[in-house]
Amino acid sequence: MRVVLLGPPGAGKGTQARALEARLGGPHISTGDMLRAHVQQGTALGAQARPYMDAGELVPDSLILSMMEERLREPDAANGFLLDGFPRTREQAIALDQLLARIGQGLEAVIYLEVPPAELVRRLSGRRTCPRCARIYHVDTMPPKAPGRCDQCGEALIQRDDETPEVIRRRFEVYSGETEPVIAYYRESGRLHAVDGTTGVTNVCARVEEIVRSARPPSPTRSEAALP
Ligand code: AMP
Repeated sequence: MRVVLLGPPGAGKGTQARALEARLGGPHISTGDMLRAHVQQGTALGAQARPYMDAGELVPDSLILSMMEERLREPDAANGFLLDGFPRTREQAIALDQLLARIGQGLEAVIYLEVPPAELVRRLSGRRTCPRCARIYHVDTMPPKAPGRCDQCGEALIQRDDETPEVIRRRFEVYSGETEPVIAYYRESGRLHAVDGTTGVTNVCARVEEIVRSARPPSPTRSEAALP
């Protein structure tokens, strides 16, 4: 299953992708998690990406696209993947179509998780993340079993550097300016499925699974992109 999960920061893309990974097969590929791993490991890409991430800005397309091309060519992605946080610009969406067409693939479904702004702010300000395994919690609605510790690996949970009120505000502006056109791009090509993201993790997951399982198998010719 080749699936893209779209939605504003806090819509639940990461939570859903983790829940869907086991049910649908194919790795959960999160550009945000990949970039944070580069920052943690001190790679050249991490050093280039960090200032953008800390400011709530998008990392330049050229860096993201080469990282993703490499990732999507890995053997575990050959039969499917769940993309979370990518594409985030119209250029990235076109490049993804072109890349998939080149390797004879296409997207099965693009899921857009819809959540009202007030709920997004509430979710982001209470969010806590495990820096080791990237699992996500919420202080009120999804707390860990032991306060402040990851259920899975025991690591101390953190609030991400880009989850201060000022940076959250900037991430929403960037989302409106850069990522809403991605929604329009997939809507125009008839591939967008909007899902109410406020009905609870289990219900949202079941709805997304239903959509993905009933999606028509893609063919590269359905791609919007012209082959180079
Ligand atoms: P996320 O964990 O998806 O919220 O991403 C955290 C940050 O990583 C974003 O605010 C961006 O700075 C950067 N980032 C993640 N994915 C992308 C992408 N597809 N394009 C550009 N920047 C990205």
